[in-house]
Amino acid sequence: RLAVNPAQICDRKIDLTREQQHYLNRVLRLQGGDRFIAMDGRGHWWLAVLEAHETGLIASITEEIAVNRELPVEVTLMAALPKGNGFDEVVRQATELGVGSIVPVTSDRTLLKPSDQKVERWRRIAAEAAEQSERQIVPTILEPVSFDVAVKDCGQKYRFICVARGDNRHLWDCLAALDPPQFRAGTGAPPLQRGEQDGGELSIVIAIGPEGGWTEGEVKRAIEFGFEAVSLGSRILRAVTAPIVALSLVGAIFEK
Ligand code: SAM
Repeated sequence: RLAVNPAQICDRKIDLTREQQHYLNRVLRLQGGDRFIAMDGRGHWWLAVLEAHETGLIASITEEIAVNRELPVEVTLMAALPKGNGFDEVVRQATELGVGSIVPVTSDRTLLKPSDQKVERWRRIAAEAAEQSERQIVPTILEPVSFDVAVKDCGQKYRFICVARGDNRHLWDCLAALDPPQFRAGTGAPPLQRGEQDGGELSIVIAIGPEGGWTEGEVKRAIEFGFEAVSLGSRILRAVTAPIVALSLVGAIFEK
C-alpha cells in the first residue's frame, strides 16, 4: 500500500516520486505487472498496476476501491508455530481480521521446521480466507524463520511481543497511544503527513508465542531489538486464540 497525494493522479496514472518508486521496488519488492493499493489518507483507495519503463516505474489505476476492507495500518503477525495443524487456523483467522503479513517462527519451545508443502498450504489458506472475507489484499505468508532472525530483521516501526504472564502494559493501551488522527479510516481526517518513504502508514508487528510460551531469553532479546512486552488480559489464551485477540484489538482501535 502506498500513500499518494491526489495531485499526483492524472488520467488514471499516478506520477510516482523517486522515493515512492524506491519504496515499491526496493522495500516491497514489486515489479512491472504487480498490483498495489494507492490511498490518499482521506478514505479514497485505488487499485493500481505497475509498469516497468526505461525511465522507471509507472503506475496506472485499474479501479477505484469503493468498499475498503483493509485495515488502515499495516500489521505483521509473527507467530511461533504451534503443534499439529494449529497454524492453519491462525492463518485463516488472522487473514479474516486483516493481517498484512504473517511470519511463521520457530522458537526455543517449538523446534518444528515446517515443510515447503506446509508453507504452500498456508498460502492457499490465506488466499481462500482473503477471498471469503472479500479483502483487497491477500496477506503475505513469509518463509519460516527462527525467532532470533525474525526479531532482528523486523522492519516494522512499532513492535510488540505478547507475554502471557507479568505486569506488562495492555496491548490496547499501547495501540491507543499510536492513534494519530491521520491514520483513522476514511473519516474526513486530514491527508497523510508522513513521508512516502515508508508508504505513509503505521506499521506494527505483534509476536505471539507457542503453547509453552516464550522463554525469558527470547523476551529479553526481543526487547533488545525494540519490542515492548505487552499483555492481552488476565487470562492465559491458547496460542491460536491470542492472535485473534491481538488483531481484534488493532481493528477496534484503528477502524473505529
Ligand atoms: N504456558 C505459557 C505461559 O504460562 O506463559 C502460556 C503460553 S500461551 C498458551 C501462548 C502465547 O499466547 C504466549 O506466548 C503469548 O504470546 C500469548 N498469550 C496468551 N495469553 C496471553 C495474555 N494474557 N497476554 C499476553 N499474551 C498472551
